[in-house]
Amino acid sequence: MTEKKPKSKPGAVLITAFGVVQGVGFRPFIFRLAQKFGCRGWVKNIGYGVQIHLEPGKKTGLRLFLRALREEKPPLAMIEEVKVRPASFRGYKDFRIRKSKEGESFVFISPDISTCPNCRQEIMDRRERRFHYPFTNCTDCGPRYTIVRSLPYDRAKTTMSWFRMCDACRSEYENPLDRRYHAQPIACPACGPSITLKEARTGKKIRGGISEAVSFIKKGKILAVKGLGGFHLVCDPHNEKALRRLRRVKQRDRKPLALMARDLATIRKFAHIGVAQRRELLSASRPIVLLRKKRDIPGIAPYLDEIGFMLPYTPLHHLLLEDLDLIVATSSNKKDAPIAKDEKEGLDKLCDYILTHNRPIQTRADDSVLKVEAGRTLFLRRARGFVPYPQRVPPDLETPQHILALGGELKDTISVYKNGYVVTSQFLGDLDEYENYRYFEETISHLQQLFDVRPEVIVSDLHPNFHTTSYGQKSGLPHLQVQHHFAHVLAVLLEHQVPWGKKVLGVSWDGYGYGEDGSAWGGEFLLADYLSFTRVAHFKQVPLPGGDLAAKQPWRMALAYLRDSFGRSLPKIKALERIDKKKRNLVLKMMEAGLNAPLSSSCGRLFDAVSFLTGLAPSEVEFEAEAPMRLEAASPEKIRGSYGFALLDNDIPWRVSFTQTIQEITADIKNGVSAPFISAKFHNTLARAILAVAERAKIRFGIKTLVLVGGVFLNRRLLSSATAFLGREGFEVLRPLKYSPNDESISLGQVAYALARLKKKH
Ligand SMILES: [Zn+2]
Ligand SMILES: [Zn+2]
Repeated sequence: MTEKKPKSKPGAVLITAFGVVQGVGFRPFIFRLAQKFGCRGWVKNIGYGVQIHLEPGKKTGLRLFLRALREEKPPLAMIEEVKVRPASFRGYKDFRIRKSKEGESFVFISPDISTCPNCRQEIMDRRERRFHYPFTNCTDCGPRYTIVRSLPYDRAKTTMSWFRMCDACRSEYENPLDRRYHAQPIACPACGPSITLKEARTGKKIRGGISEAVSFIKKGKILAVKGLGGFHLVCDPHNEKALRRLRRVKQRDRKPLALMARDLATIRKFAHIGVAQRRELLSASRPIVLLRKKRDIPGIAPYLDEIGFMLPYTPLHHLLLEDLDLIVATSSNKKDAPIAKDEKEGLDKLCDYILTHNRPIQTRADDSVLKVEAGRTLFLRRARGFVPYPQRVPPDLETPQHILALGGELKDTISVYKNGYVVTSQFLGDLDEYENYRYFEETISHLQQLFDVRPEVIVSDLHPNFHTTSYGQKSGLPHLQVQHHFAHVLAVLLEHQVPWGKKVLGVSWDGYGYGEDGSAWGGEFLLADYLSFTRVAHFKQVPLPGGDLAAKQPWRMALAYLRDSFGRSLPKIKALERIDKKKRNLVLKMMEAGLNAPLSSSCGRLFDAVSFLTGLAPSEVEFEAEAPMRLEAASPEKIRGSYGFALLDNDIPWRVSFTQTIQEITADIKNGVSAPFISAKFHNTLARAILAVAERAKIRFGIKTLVLVGGVFLNRRLLSSATAFLGREGFEVLRPLKYSPNDESISLGQVAYALARLKKKH
């Protein structure tokens, strides 16, 4: 390649790079780049980025330097924006890394990153001083978010401050050409953290470290192993007895357990890995990736067609899996409590042995979980490895005020906003549980302190009885409340930087959200922009017999839908025979009398009903969405047929009635049509219902863009059919890519609403 000769003498420039560029080896990277290109000047950290004063060398143009800056950046760096402006020529003699200045603005911090190939090679090499050292890391890898106490990111402000660097580590730390230059968690066997193996019940120390731990796993014991954001419970997945015991201590009979495999070859024995799945498994974030089963391992993910795998992400994992192919690695929490980060949080009751270490965890973070749909990520849980990546807001929504959004109640997260960026927390769990609520409070104060956010506006859900709502009320700050399904749509608008004023049709489907009219919403079509929404359509309401119990016992919903479709003369359905007749009659009477049977337009409950009618759902579910997940798992992709449904009413809100759907499903069941066939037709019916509402909304309101969001859209079968139908008719379809479609993204949507309201004021 030839390069044009510069027309005049190269001038000095000031380059500012914004984004996640601190604590990721960015300054030494610039240093090396400057040396390579013969440039002089300096680089330093500023508030939310780095600043470079560059006096280009004779041979190299600025363009090449800037290209290298973007293309060769360290793996952990995430550049949001680069600004270049002329600066006065000072005639520097060399290039230097200048000391940081504490900034006023948003200082970002990288998520925790899995062990890089260089470090991995080092710990497996006998000649290296870090051979088999479980805390090896460098500027390209290691803990970040889970060990940092405050920012700017510096060793003294992490949980590594307890360890004094040895001379060998210090010389690496201070050498700009070393891979460990300013790697804050730098450590070695001489100066860093170390591991301890203990008996869980007595706390007695046991010799033998990792190799002894491995032998315990092989013998069928359950171990708690300290990772980045908390402890895993670990056992041999092929040992039935160990698995049964693990399920007993976790009080989970059927909820899927995650596996950690030594390598891709091991995973391939049990599951199919596509190109995109492989990319996610190997990514620096190392999430749990749900994969289609090839060979089942009994007891890991019963009744489902997918199984969750991850690859090792710390040196300790790599060492554990040197001599094991596969382990169960599930988060070590008591039921309804956050992941344990400390041995003292009741671990002794969950396991036989504890493999722990003395590098404290500052912030808990569960493993992230995702699957892949149409080559792109679909998050079930966004936590370790992704949090706290910042989200840029559309420039015309920016405000100088700081915002705190509290989320909903289930699968909660919080979000903080400052200077054009939102940071959304890791998954916090269900706030109705006391310990999770403590975790929520812990996270609010940590994120506020970490990012120096002083909220001037607080946002919560519309629900009057949510803990988040009362937290907002008690805060004494101006308090905004946003309807649940609207917040879902807003999260997607913000993520996709949809411009101010554009209207979309938000298909916001989940199990439950408090509606504007106080009733239970769930199958919603909202004509929305950032500021407001109109409820254009919703599922025809049916009673929820027993209120909250209806979400736990799918047979109740099956009865509600049968009664809705057939009136008093209910058809005989085999699945319902499993339920005691007296119970069934009682539930029918409740609905008749309208006692404890509130009306709801829930989409999740329709899935429950159909899953139960086809005989797939259990009479009582163990975890949320168990019935819909079994229905989806049964559905083959290739079946094209669908059932009838109706779009009622001319005035909005239109109602989508599935009366005919249920009647036809009942007929199919009586005719012996198989559950997979019914499931496929049911999924297609819902996709057609979306298209029908979209086409009517296009005529009436000129809508061309749809947003598919809400927990229901974790269903790949529905998502792919709906996207295909809509795409064929020329609609643009947006869905969450970096956040989960479920309630984890409510707090992000709440921030968008607050921004819109503040903008309108000005
Ligand atoms: Zn490394
Ligand atoms: Zn050392």
